[in-house]
Amino acid sequence: MDLQTRALHEGYTKDSQGTMAVPIYQTTAYEFNSVEHAADLFSLKQLGNIYTRLNNPTTDVFEKRFASLEGGEAALATSSGMSATFFAIVNATAAGENIVCAKQLYGGSLTLNTHTLKRFGIEARYFDVHDMSSLESLIDDKTRVIFFESLTNPSIDVADIEAITKIADKYGILSVVDNTVATPVLCRPFEFGADIVVHSASKYTTGQGLAIGGILVERKNLVEKLRSNPRYEHFNNPDPSYHGLIYVNIGLPPFTLRARLSLSRDLGAVLSPFNSWLFIQGIETLSLRMKEHSKNALALAEFLESHPKVKKVNYPGLKSNANYKNAQKYFDGGECSGLLSFEVASLQEATKIVDATKLYSLVVNIGDSKSIITHPASTTHQQLNEQELIACGVPSGLIRISCGLESIKDLIDDMKQALEA
Ligand SMILES: *Cc1c(COP(=O)(O)O)cnc(C)c1O
Repeated sequence: MDLQTRALHEGYTKDSQGTMAVPIYQTTAYEFNSVEHAADLFSLKQLGNIYTRLNNPTTDVFEKRFASLEGGEAALATSSGMSATFFAIVNATAAGENIVCAKQLYGGSLTLNTHTLKRFGIEARYFDVHDMSSLESLIDDKTRVIFFESLTNPSIDVADIEAITKIADKYGILSVVDNTVATPVLCRPFEFGADIVVHSASKYTTGQGLAIGGILVERKNLVEKLRSNPRYEHFNNPDPSYHGLIYVNIGLPPFTLRARLSLSRDLGAVLSPFNSWLFIQGIETLSLRMKEHSKNALALAEFLESHPKVKKVNYPGLKSNANYKNAQKYFDGGECSGLLSFEVASLQEATKIVDATKLYSLVVNIGDSKSIITHPASTTHQQLNEQELIACGVPSGLIRISCGLESIKDLIDDMKQALEA
């Protein structure tokens, strides 16, 4: 079935009441039929509900539905996009090992990888997402993950997914792709060889800026890459924390199984059933919204490109953009989501424009149905000096837009009056 049909139906069987909307199972725990039943659930002889830190029927629908949209085998929902990324990395990597990451990353992922993981003894090495030789030179026998974003936030680059996953396969390393900005509607990294996909559901998945959440998805047949792979001995040897379970041997998707049984159990970054329910509502309209976000963003980008006050527009849907070819290859219909940025002459000019817009809210979020404007140099990248700003692709005159679902005429009119104010 097509993605839009699965977005409405996948993973939910109506209960005895015939409930059309997926019910919110707002509960901490579940009753067992007998001691034997409880023991069977704990030993995985039988699969079922134990405790909401491990699983929940509402969250289960969100996980099954999202896994289906990505074309994956299984998923684990988490309390935020950051915890999904953290789980994906530490599920594969231990102290003394390293990960290789694109340097064009979301700010939170950069600080996680560079600073927080370092305190866990995990080293992050950075490659330029457009330079495959720099990637290969960073890999050694301690590398456990190659991590990158399909459509990068905030630099708005499009990764050559196939080139990167080919290198990961050559060395038997897991590739982890953050697909938050593109969403599975526009791009499905598993079709280009990725092993794990992570998301912040806080952006386009909720779609209306309603909740923080995340999800980690495992591709089909990942067990074959993990089995007997010397980089991932903890999937191939008995887990002493789970009475000797060997994850690759029990016929369930091993990566999400371990993330659930070990990481969710011990770290507890679990999604609330209510937020799962909100994300299920969001998924129902995700494909309709992504088409409109993309259409609006392209029209706004074209307007900005024609305006004399604008030095440069970054949007992969523009023919003038360096990422145009990758966008045509990896994104359905060449549609590029709602994220764009543009550069004006100076910090003063940028500040004036941001303050003069009326329809764009000054907010550090993306993927809302309402349009959002941000000035990275004075907010998310405030601690950097002028040289550092230029080095990470965020000059002080750069303005980022998350283009919403308002009428495009109103969005262009408001931007025009702000530029000319
Ligand atoms: C927002 C974002 C995250 C972090 O997600 P949270 O849900 O805010 O924790 C990770 N990656 C990308 C690309 C994001 O835009």
